[in-house]
Amino acid sequence: MQKILFSLTLIISVLVLRAQEPVADTNWKKQYRETAEKINNLVHTKLEVKPDFSKSYLYGKAWLTLKPHFYPTDSLKLDAKGMDIKTVALIKNGKQISLKYDYDDWNLNIRLDKIYKSTETYTIFIDYTAKPDEFQEKYGTNDFLGIKGMYFINPLGEEKDKPTQIWTQGETESNSAWFPTIDKTNQKTTQELTVTVANKYVTLSNGKLMSQKKNADGTRTDYWKMDLPHAPYLFFLGVGDYAVVKDSWRGKEVNYYVEPEYASVAKKIFGNTPEMIEYFSKITGVPYPWIKYSQITGRDYVAGAMENTTATIHQEGAQQDARELIDGNNWEGTIAHELFHQWFGDYVTTEQWTNLTLNESFADYSQTLWDEYKYGKDAGDAENYQGMQGYLQSGSDKKDLVRFYYSDKEDMFDAVSYQKGGRILHMLRNFVGDSAFFKSLNNYLATNKFKSAEAHQLRLAFEEVTGRDLNWYFNQWYFGSGHPSVSIDYVYEEAAGKVHVIVKQNQKTGKIFTLPMAVDIYNGSEKVRKNIWVRNAVDTFTFTYSKKPDLVNVDADKVMLWSKKDNKNLDNYIHQYKYAGNYLDRREAIEFAGKNQKEEKARELLKLALKDKYQGLRNYTLAILNMENEEFKKSVEPILLDLAKNDPKSTVRANAMGKLASYKKKEYTAMFKNATRDSSYSVAGTALNALREVDPEAAMTIAKELKGQKSKGLLKESITTTLASSGDESMADELIGGFAKLPISQEKFQQLNALGAYLSALKNNEKVKQGLQEIIKFRDEIPEQFRTQTNPFINGVVLKDILAKKEEALKTDAGNKGLKEVVDYLKTNLPAEDKKGF
Ligand SMILES: [Zn+2]
Repeated sequence: MQKILFSLTLIISVLVLRAQEPVADTNWKKQYRETAEKINNLVHTKLEVKPDFSKSYLYGKAWLTLKPHFYPTDSLKLDAKGMDIKTVALIKNGKQISLKYDYDDWNLNIRLDKIYKSTETYTIFIDYTAKPDEFQEKYGTNDFLGIKGMYFINPLGEEKDKPTQIWTQGETESNSAWFPTIDKTNQKTTQELTVTVANKYVTLSNGKLMSQKKNADGTRTDYWKMDLPHAPYLFFLGVGDYAVVKDSWRGKEVNYYVEPEYASVAKKIFGNTPEMIEYFSKITGVPYPWIKYSQITGRDYVAGAMENTTATIHQEGAQQDARELIDGNNWEGTIAHELFHQWFGDYVTTEQWTNLTLNESFADYSQTLWDEYKYGKDAGDAENYQGMQGYLQSGSDKKDLVRFYYSDKEDMFDAVSYQKGGRILHMLRNFVGDSAFFKSLNNYLATNKFKSAEAHQLRLAFEEVTGRDLNWYFNQWYFGSGHPSVSIDYVYEEAAGKVHVIVKQNQKTGKIFTLPMAVDIYNGSEKVRKNIWVRNAVDTFTFTYSKKPDLVNVDADKVMLWSKKDNKNLDNYIHQYKYAGNYLDRREAIEFAGKNQKEEKARELLKLALKDKYQGLRNYTLAILNMENEEFKKSVEPILLDLAKNDPKSTVRANAMGKLASYKKKEYTAMFKNATRDSSYSVAGTALNALREVDPEAAMTIAKELKGQKSKGLLKESITTTLASSGDESMADELIGGFAKLPISQEKFQQLNALGAYLSALKNNEKVKQGLQEIIKFRDEIPEQFRTQTNPFINGVVLKDILAKKEEALKTDAGNKGLKEVVDYLKTNLPAEDKKGF
């Protein structure tokens, strides 16, 4: 599964999650989370279902074939949540024999007709009605995912502009809210599903669509069949008005179910899927094992995406329009993630949420693998680095990757199971080498296919292939917590021709990590590689040289999962940028130069980095460029102009144009004006913002023209900000009221620019104060630990700008009482340090 958290900007989305965390109850610390005991095993599940949109019910009949796991038994316990149970019977020679049962809204405990042995199968028939909404209402909390399993979206068609849909969400244990099953990850079952819906709807489920039959009453019955076993949480049913765009891989169906208006862009969004299937088949050595692969979008979907076997669902955010896609397909990582789950999660499944790393760390890492394969090593490394930062900033260094104690199973879906686990795989790949790494993955998949597994099985697969003991690695990274926090120092003994590299581990926990890594020693472009093992709190590695090295590059492959203080000087970093060559080598050098922009050499490096071969680093350099030095500003202008006009990447053109705006030159007016019509939202939006700086009237005219057209992202934001800067009182409801209505979210944060511009220009002081109250309320609702990241913007930019404008206005209108009140209100609500800016 992909949580929304990982597809949006980190800060705000982490914040939303944290804001929902319940008050501390620490009893869970004593509750060992054992793997569910297998008493009976699912063998086959046959379902006949019919949704009732008028009630949001599902009428269902289930035939479950099971057998005892090992010990004989005369009873069966099923998960069946919030249902009306009408019949429970044993099927014998085609006849129903009623069975005794009891039911408590959660579990259906059935007394079988006799004691069954593990060699005997039996089939149970259950006639039921699932009432997912009522179940959620009765027992649900504010869980991120909810517990109702089946979601009826706009079932009565009462909401305008929203299609009517059904989609299901099984992970973690919610599919048992729409069919009775043993809802545990260590169960696997084959599946048949027939669903009857109005003929206008399309359906999607696991496996192959075997037949479609039109009924006399205007309904249609679709029959889906899944011949290979998979876990109950991976069952899926989707219903709705979709365009089905067809693709294929090695003769297997690959389909994209999108809302009809996105049919023409479906292949632009999902079209790399066949190539991904081919790539993942090759690296795992396991050709895509299932009969088809479909992807569907769901309105109001509760997560980012979910890897239901052969039927992945994505949230509506996947549906980007053609202009958004010019800036890049921001959903491609998620598409790779869910696809890789078809192997890691669906083909081999974690036996318990404790071992979720076996699903999610692989899916997370697949995004690095795909980017590396498709877009080059820099792109893969950039993805890997972003994942590492995601973990390091999450503050989850106390959690083991494999966790036997947790408050709620949903808590396992965190930066440790995803981003940290992905980086642990990346280090492992570096340590054992590519061919051993992929061969070990093949070994793990082949050994455990159609079964569930725990992390030790992964270790054993690697040990078998490499012939190496890997207990230490797994104990340290899988069954332990935290990460190294190191400082690296270099002491040169020039007379003796020696350099001492001192690596010190500074973790507060006192835990010491064992870290194998490469060290490259550079003279000009020549390098010598040494392999070292860091094992102690302080390790000193001594290397001899005949000529003093230009650079000693520790962790030369830039794979270590750690935070570090690397005490290199500017010359070292300049050498690193030019010769070491990895994405992170260059990024570190740019970062260092960015912090030392007073130095001529640093500024020269930044100029070089503006033309870096990787667009992500050109954008990064643009972001950290400090334009306060007039001489530098002048010398960098031609480069910025060139980037703004000619860079092949639209986001780089946009960011360069954003920098050019700060020159406030009239001669750029025409360029900005033209660029507001650019097909890229980021270019057009940045150009409109830039135009506002040099020619506010022209910006307003264009914003009014563009308002009627469809726009998203930065352009939409920029149009609103421009219109808002007029201070037109009739916009108050839309801007202030609209902001007030939003929950704490990325979207709300993004509206601060427009609202700030509006309040600065608005003359109605009552309404200004109302708007300010909303901003301050939002600021103070943000959990404390994130305010160091959000307050500099809210206080130091948005509120400070408004204060400056209002103070300016007060100078010429000293008698304006209301305005004075606004100024005083702002002053009392701005902390002293933020008034100065940042
Ligand atoms: Zn996932």
